[in-house]
Amino acid sequence: MPRSWRTKLIHPDVELPEGYRSLVPPVYRGSTTVFPSSAKLRDDWRQHEVGWVYGLYGTPTALELAGRVAELEGGFRTFLVPGGQSALALINLALLREGEHVLIPDSIYSPHRQLADDLLRRFGVTCEYYPPTIGAGIEALVRDQTRLVWCESPGSITMEVQDVPAIAEVAHRVGAKVAMDNTYSAGVYFDAFAHGVDVVTQALTKYIGGHSDLLLGSVTVRDAADYERIGSTLQTLGMAVSPDDCSLALRGMQTLGVRLAALEASTLQVAQWLAGREEIATVLHPALPSCPGHEIWRRDFTGSTSVFSVEFRPEIRRSRVRSFVDALELFPIGWSWGGVTSLAVPVNPPRTAGEGRRAGALVRFNVGLEDPADLIADLEVGLRAIRA
Ligand SMILES: *Cc1c(COP(=O)(O)O)cnc(C)c1O
Repeated sequence: MPRSWRTKLIHPDVELPEGYRSLVPPVYRGSTTVFPSSAKLRDDWRQHEVGWVYGLYGTPTALELAGRVAELEGGFRTFLVPGGQSALALINLALLREGEHVLIPDSIYSPHRQLADDLLRRFGVTCEYYPPTIGAGIEALVRDQTRLVWCESPGSITMEVQDVPAIAEVAHRVGAKVAMDNTYSAGVYFDAFAHGVDVVTQALTKYIGGHSDLLLGSVTVRDAADYERIGSTLQTLGMAVSPDDCSLALRGMQTLGVRLAALEASTLQVAQWLAGREEIATVLHPALPSCPGHEIWRRDFTGSTSVFSVEFRPEIRRSRVRSFVDALELFPIGWSWGGVTSLAVPVNPPRTAGEGRRAGALVRFNVGLEDPADLIADLEVGLRAIRA
């Protein structure tokens, strides 16, 4: 019997030529994936092992991006999640349970500190903060219950470069995992797995996306055991990513090499200019000797990126520093970084954090792809607002 046009809308007989090949991975949208027979029906997140199951575990667009991030970072497999912060949540929830102890550097990305203090503590995890430059001295802080040690290097805002191999050596001796937020390095300027890290995360929102138009996070594991633990937690949490965002990230990734090279050069030029200004007490850029851990950066990193902070001289009041930021025209005020636009934010850190120990007001910069001479001219005008 011929079928109604209404049925044809859902089950068309359209045929296309085979063999289409594009240079770019297509955007596969979809919740439901169809199975060849009822015998093949299953619900298992391990799509690399069992084949395509459900959109929640990633369409081919998401798994293409995940595969490329894993390849870039030199890991076993990568999970994608809706943002950098959800990646941090996933790792903590997958690797910790009640009664266990986690060590977190004082200079951690501050929403990560909130996650530990508000959520992990509520679930009975003991969260302890350590000075980011502790190195092998972390030996004094590890306990029998320590199951996870976090690193973030350079740290958020205060930019301390950590001795990750020394910390990992101690952590592994007591059977703890080492997780690292490697967003600063875009997963390339610091080879986390080669320096002893077990689980690496990045806010793909920053350099992989690269254009401030998407939010995504990645979690890359070194081995199959962590792949199992994190994958099963991810399945139950149900964090899905948009194939359209993954497609944008795939596009961003293609220009990562040229963007990072341009950003590194411009950022160094701006940071060095600021270092010569009398208003500035310290430039916290890992490639400058004034940054805590600069020697470790030289030992372990192969490049620097676009984000850094400056500490103003302590006698310059915070309200004057805010006037400086407000006077800038080429540095809009906003969170996040790693895109093509320069940004500035005055930061008022919690007193317990590493940055709280600095006497002067702090401003964090992201340098974009503008001409650095124009950026420097703008900063010069802005600095006049301090004296005005
Ligand atoms: C931005 C950032 C995150 C969070 O990423 P979102 O995608 O904005 O959630 C995590 N860690 C670091 C170091 C970051 O800078």
